Amino acid sequence: MADKSFFIDTTKCTACRGCQIACKQWNKNPGTKTLQRGNHQNPDDLSTYTFKLVRFNEVEVPGGEPQWYFFADQCRHCISPPCKEVADGKVKGAIIQDETTGAVIFNTKMKIKPADFKEIREVCPYDIPRFHPSAGIMAKCTMCFDRIKEGMLPACVKTCPTGAMSFGDRKDILEKANKRLAEVKGKFKDAMLANPEDVRVIYLLVDDPKKYHKFAVAENAIGITRKMALKRLFQPLNTLRQMIG
Ligand code: SF4
Ligand code: SF4
Repeated sequence: MADKSFFIDTTKCTACRGCQIACKQWNKNPGTKTLQRGNHQNPDDLSTYTFKLVRFNEVEVPGGEPQWYFFADQCRHCISPPCKEVADGKVKGAIIQDETTGAVIFNTKMKIKPADFKEIREVCPYDIPRFHPSAGIMAKCTMCFDRIKEGMLPACVKTCPTGAMSFGDRKDILEKANKRLAEVKGKFKDAMLANPEDVRVIYLLVDDPKKYHKFAVAENAIGITRKMALKRLFQPLNTLRQMIG
């Protein structure tokens, strides 16, 4: 197996939620109680039982017409995952990264303290990790690691009826994403790929990322939160302090 990536082309997404359901089905995650909130968003957020969520955002465009933005949200399987960096300093082995595919996996056999989880969630630039307080475990997308190691596609990609989702070797996926970006640029001048150098789940967006979702792109260009950047900046100083006591 090689380094893997997803490409999610939001211009082809119809918000059918097939990916969301396929993810639940494969991971044997139960349904969660839903509510009529006056919009189509259900459930309202990711959770320990919802690893993949189609976000609906209704935006008013010039002329007063409403427009829907769909965003099939999930863990981005970061190239250098900040969640793992923090977890390594708390409970070694709680978050692992597969060396060949790059999949970032939460180890559900290891328990985490709520305070440690809070720090792990805070450093995720995409607000992905969720926590089951009574079980003390974290949860998120697994890249369908059990499927891909058998040569199958992730359940969400296999299900998508419109071709909005692709998965494969990173080199091929990057090529596909850049080719599609060039195609849509003529029609959508603001089209962009979201943090393609930093993540293994690359979204094609054709408008301001905030119209899709607050965490559609990382808070800053290098794909880490401000807090994490500061921590990294002061790390050598802290290490020196520890050495000289
Ligand atoms: S998106 Fe968040 S949870 Fe997923 S690998 Fe990156 S930092 Fe970790
Ligand atoms: S299955 Fe495909 S078209 Fe349907 S919501 Fe998911 S990404 Fe969009």
